[in-house]
Amino acid sequence: MSTTVVEAPTVEAVTTELTSWLEENWNPDMTLAEWWGRLAADRWAHPAMPEEAGGRGYGRSLCAAISAGLAEAGVVGPPIGLGPMLAAPTIAAHGTPEQVQQFVPEILDGSTAWCQLFSEPNAGSDLAGLQTKAVRDGDEWTITGQKVWTSGGHLAKWGMLIARTDLDAPKHQGITYFAFDMEQDGVEVRPLREMTGDALFNEVFIDGAKVLDANVIGGLGNGWRVANTTLMIERANLGGGGKQPVSLSGGPRTGRLGDTVGKLAKRTVGGPDGEAGRGMSINRLIELACDAGRSADPVVRQEIVKLHILGEVNRWNLLRAKAGGSRTGAEGNLAKLAMSELVRRSRDVGNLVIGADGMLAGSASATGGGVQEVTLFSPAPAIYGGTDQVQRNIVGERVLGLPKEPGPAKETPFKDLPQN
Ligand SMILES: Cc1cc2nc3c(=O)[nH]c(=O)nc-3n(C[C@H](O)[C@H](O)[C@H](O)COP(=O)(O)OP(=O)(O)OC[C@H]3O[C@@H](n4cnc5c(N)ncnc54)[C@H](O)[C@@H]3O)c2cc1C
Repeated sequence: MSTTVVEAPTVEAVTTELTSWLEENWNPDMTLAEWWGRLAADRWAHPAMPEEAGGRGYGRSLCAAISAGLAEAGVVGPPIGLGPMLAAPTIAAHGTPEQVQQFVPEILDGSTAWCQLFSEPNAGSDLAGLQTKAVRDGDEWTITGQKVWTSGGHLAKWGMLIARTDLDAPKHQGITYFAFDMEQDGVEVRPLREMTGDALFNEVFIDGAKVLDANVIGGLGNGWRVANTTLMIERANLGGGGKQPVSLSGGPRTGRLGDTVGKLAKRTVGGPDGEAGRGMSINRLIELACDAGRSADPVVRQEIVKLHILGEVNRWNLLRAKAGGSRTGAEGNLAKLAMSELVRRSRDVGNLVIGADGMLAGSASATGGGVQEVTLFSPAPAIYGGTDQVQRNIVGERVLGLPKEPGPAKETPFKDLPQN
């Protein structure tokens, strides 16, 4: 049987196509919802998604070229947040065609936002120890339990929920993944305030809320596998870099697009959709060093270059992994580790440059407050998406073949395991 190989377009061809599309379609008098609708309809919203799920099936370098093209054109990018980043690719990988049809288009056009209902008070690093229960009742499930650190839970219409559906099965096998409606009785979302001053994440209390059996993603008892897809995508995305256009998370949006661009352009770091999670950019650090009259200081120069090198090595690693396929299976874990290191180092270089001004936040700061925001946010990337220690455990066990941590036998039923 002969197979047809479809050649991927070149970066130049895609950039040219995008430029002429933008000339015809960008109009600052539209609303954000209309703009996102156009990006999604013409498959610019999430080009990495497969074609049958509204994307173009493009690899990392073509997607990076599209993000850079949108950023350089100064337009608002497609919706960001956990919907496009995690839910859409997970549903595309494990969902039925009906589920893809139901959930993905409204993620790509930004009409609904999603959150990730994974962590619990006693199940973070040991995520498979989760205790939120789903009990079947006809063609629906009743959910009871508590989730925590739910980023954007207060804005989300849908949640990627993992819950225990079988107490007799071993802990990794009795878990099911659901698309869970956040806007229903029995769901209480309480904000948690961070040391940055923001309240981006929440506790979510679920008491007898319902989810249709039709919203099981990836099959009953297969939730651990599906959740691992979400986590691998999360790690690779958190580790990825590149030039990004300014944008916002999905959810209903009105108002003139041109005004949105202005507001977003002023915000360089922090906020739900800001850059604090990626640390200070090299360009911003150079600007700060020039403003502070420290651009000739050999230590400052050396630290900025070290940061640049680490960032480039990480970027190339990801590109190499994508181009040559995965060599170790742990590229996402390594990229995530590199990202937490990059954020910490960019915080340290920023503070080295601005010196005592780092003690003043907000409008009191003469340097704009960006370094201070990154400083307060910098512990977070080493925790979310699985802590640095957990990434190292995974690399140690799965790549280096080190022995597993001691613990109960894998086949022990969940109900017989010691619980916190
Ligand atoms: C900003 C932010 C946003 C987040 N958003 C979300 C979200 O949207 N949805 C969601 O579900 N979760 C979210 N999380 C939660 C995050 O995934 C968990 O905090 C993380 O998995 C760690 O779990 P934990 O907080 O329970 O810490 P624990 O698991 O209690 O860990 C405590 C410490 O012990 C270490 N440790 C634990 N086990 C081991 C081990 N086996 N070997 C070595 N060291 C170990 C950890 O590395 C850590 O340092 C978010 C967290 C943050 C900080």
